[in-house]
Amino acid sequence: MEKELYLIGNFKMNLTKSDIIPYLKKIKKMAKNTNNHVGICVPYPYLCYAKKYLNHSNVLYGAQNLHYKESGAFTGEVSAEMLNDFNCDMVIIGHSERRNYYNETDDSVNLKVLKALSSNIVPIICVGESELEREKNETFKVIDNQIKKALKDVKVEDLSSVIFAYEPIWAIGTGKTATSEQAEEVISHIKKYICKLYKLKSTDLIVVLYGGSMNEKNATELLKMPSIDGGLIGGACLNLEKFGVIFNTKIND
Ligand code: PEP
Repeated sequence: MEKELYLIGNFKMNLTKSDIIPYLKKIKKMAKNTNNHVGICVPYPYLCYAKKYLNHSNVLYGAQNLHYKESGAFTGEVSAEMLNDFNCDMVIIGHSERRNYYNETDDSVNLKVLKALSSNIVPIICVGESELEREKNETFKVIDNQIKKALKDVKVEDLSSVIFAYEPIWAIGTGKTATSEQAEEVISHIKKYICKLYKLKSTDLIVVLYGGSMNEKNATELLKMPSIDGGLIGGACLNLEKFGVIFNTKIND
């Protein structure tokens, strides 16, 4: 049987309308026959075009952040209700760039996860260690703590509506990919840890992606690992030909 993968592109703060509209039209056609789950997280101003071109298509779409409050005096922020106006399927939460540059904390990540779930938007929860933490052998400790805090008050029945992404900080946008063994080791640990937290008997419903310099050349190697359910892809998703190679990856289970 073919493994059903999730391949989700994170545009970050890249591309503008003149690139995005042709991209959306093309990805819709390119993803028509893939058996994988394909998605893109675009900058807020382009969600209107994602809705226009991708609604009811094979391509999921969403945002890269949200605010956990419904409304109010939060200049520059965007609420889950606003994302729902664009029928967003998903939202990235706790990306390391937001944790590092915008003071995203484990507590705000948790509030955002709860808000996304109660708004029927799939949260893609990002976790990952820094290079120094890996060198100090603290990877599992750091990740367990991020996961435990992100999932505070999340009910067991909501776990199947959550996607996790293991994104070692040292591999994001650096061209330095984790080896497939390193990614597998951490992702299989994450699945076991969540099972332990929720006293689950099986890891079947837990979806964990790998993110960090995944590209058209290394994707198969990473995606064939048994615990890896897909990829969160930054740089390489901006080039649709490359992203197409990645989201058409076929792995036999
Ligand atoms: C990301 O932004 O989530 C990411 C994995 O970026 P890149 O693929 O560029 O390392």
